[in-house]
Amino acid sequence: MVKLIIMGPQGSGKGTYSSRMAPQLNNIPVISMGDLLRAARNDEEFGNVIKEAQDKGVLVSNEIVMNILKKRLEQEDAQKGFILDGFPRSLEQAEALEEITDIDATINLVVPREVSIARLSSRIQCKNCGKIYNKLYLKPKVEGVCDECNGELYQRDDDKPEAIEQRLKVYEEKTQPLIDFYNKKGIKIDIECNSVDIPPEVQVEKIMKALKEKELA
Ligand SMILES: [Zn+2]
Repeated sequence: MVKLIIMGPQGSGKGTYSSRMAPQLNNIPVISMGDLLRAARNDEEFGNVIKEAQDKGVLVSNEIVMNILKKRLEQEDAQKGFILDGFPRSLEQAEALEEITDIDATINLVVPREVSIARLSSRIQCKNCGKIYNKLYLKPKVEGVCDECNGELYQRDDDKPEAIEQRLKVYEEKTQPLIDFYNKKGIKIDIECNSVDIPPEVQVEKIMKALKEKELA
């Protein structure tokens, strides 16, 4: 039983790493807050409130976010542990999370800005179905063409370097208090990622090794 948080800037590969870690951790669920909120649009209890907030373009309140997460953590598959991806995003959320569960470790992916920029600016997306590829390590079978639907692949404006740099700056400022919070609790595990071309399996092995050292895997 292990309860983990994975944190890292966009393009750090946290989604990829989480889905590769889960099978090595007794198939614990990877809980992505983004996915959870999207799915909660159909929730009997909170669906309407969420739709309203999202349609207005405002953030869903912390109280609702916590309720949705709590409900998810009560499901059977999460009783053997979980990996939280994309949550918490603020100190307030981290403190609220303490009240519903005990986190064993927070994996902090430390990625230099230039590495994130190189990765994200190599991202391409299908115009038709939205599937995301990467010119560096998640290439389509045929250049410029989607494997799934044969749609055209293109670079989004927000994947251009200047836009990425701005997003990363915002991320760093927002997450520093969180990193400090988990550091003080003594449960932060830093995983360095200093190069663009480290294969995911190598990074996952590093994470698993760090978890084993703490007897969490
Ligand atoms: Zn496609």
